[in-house]
Amino acid sequence: MIKAVRGVRDILPSEARRWQRVEAAARQVFEAYGYAEIRVPLFERTELFARGIGDETDIVKKEMYTFEDRGGDSLTLRPEATAGVLRAYIEHGFHVEPKPVRLYTLGPMFRYERPQAGRYRQFHQANIEALGETHPALDAEVIALLMDFFEHLGFKERLALHINSIGDAGTRPAYIARLVEYLTPHRAELCPECQVRLERNPLRVLDCKTPGCQPIIEKAPSILDSLSSDATRHFDSVRRCLEAMGISYAVDPRLVRGLDYYVRTTFEVRTTELGAQNAVAGGGRYDGLIAQLGGPPDPGIGFAIGLERVVLLLGEEHRSRALSAFLIPLGEAPLLRLMPIARALRQAGVSTELAFGDRKLQRELDRANRVGVRYAVIVGDSELEQGQAIIRDMKSRQQRSEALDDLPELFRRLAAEQPLDDERPTR
Ligand code: AMP
Repeated sequence: MIKAVRGVRDILPSEARRWQRVEAAARQVFEAYGYAEIRVPLFERTELFARGIGDETDIVKKEMYTFEDRGGDSLTLRPEATAGVLRAYIEHGFHVEPKPVRLYTLGPMFRYERPQAGRYRQFHQANIEALGETHPALDAEVIALLMDFFEHLGFKERLALHINSIGDAGTRPAYIARLVEYLTPHRAELCPECQVRLERNPLRVLDCKTPGCQPIIEKAPSILDSLSSDATRHFDSVRRCLEAMGISYAVDPRLVRGLDYYVRTTFEVRTTELGAQNAVAGGGRYDGLIAQLGGPPDPGIGFAIGLERVVLLLGEEHRSRALSAFLIPLGEAPLLRLMPIARALRQAGVSTELAFGDRKLQRELDRANRVGVRYAVIVGDSELEQGQAIIRDMKSRQQRSEALDDLPELFRRLAAEQPLDDERPTR
């Protein structure tokens, strides 16, 4: 038997409804904030990610799915969405549009990480990017949008927002120098990975999760004490805007995030419910990145929501009654009479299954129950003669007779009266 590749998974029908809800919530909330959908390719030139994400990041160094295509070009399955969206922004001259340009995208990302619960090698994100504007109110708006997405799904109390400022590209080197100076005497006490980070990307030591590193990290100098006055003003303004909207947050000076391109505002939404994989969404400002990719000097800010983790938080839902009508002919003549009716119901948008007329009624009713249908419609020879059908409510088990010709109209009415689909959101 050929099985799915390690770290990738099927989204089965039993789970797909939850995915649809999450994706619909994302679209609805993003569009309410004026974001337009963009769909970018699943693979790009490797160079785009190397330049856009940073050569020293974990993603570029060890997590990319890179391959040579038949023409000899080095291509990579996208490990994140921002680089591709910015490439499209530059390539299609979006920078001449009124700023900020607000874009969103939904889809799979690929990273060669160690798979575990909540961490996969193909996973899905919902991303937004707001481009061409530096105002701190935009940072707050983007964060509000993120929190509204979670609120829309009923998660408000289960998540915490963490924010930080990691300063400007110009002033960060001074902080990094202070950090290295502080960390170097503790070098031997750090985990092996942090020892490498200390050489290559010292900021990343701050978000190491290894218990042994924690006492050292806790005493590290805070990046907030090293911000330029501009960056401090920006951060204070973001905080005032969040407070004006009643959005609560915690300032976490260790929140540096795994990608090189962030400046100033960074943020993350965390839960305590998913064990080690506690980050549900993260993002930040990336002024300078568009220029670095060969575009105009436009600033930008964005975030990514990890959809697998959101779906996990949604939990099990009530079993949905997917079908509205299950038509049961008892024999060939009733089958022929019901075939055009089934078609008319489906054309009217009533989800309908038609049995084949060759099984006992009880078996068909069992099946109707198992697929979760609300109404069964039974037609045997005697009903056919009278032009009637028996309508059975599968919940209350009550039956009544209706004219066959009236079925499409009847189901249209039933659908309008009450949702035939009794799925309820779980909170
Ligand atoms: P990042 O693009 O690394 O900032 O990640 C943004 C969000 O995507 C994270 O907060 C996670 O929720 C999610 N995410 C990142 N990597 C994975 C993965 N390998 N599997 C599942 N979700 C992930």
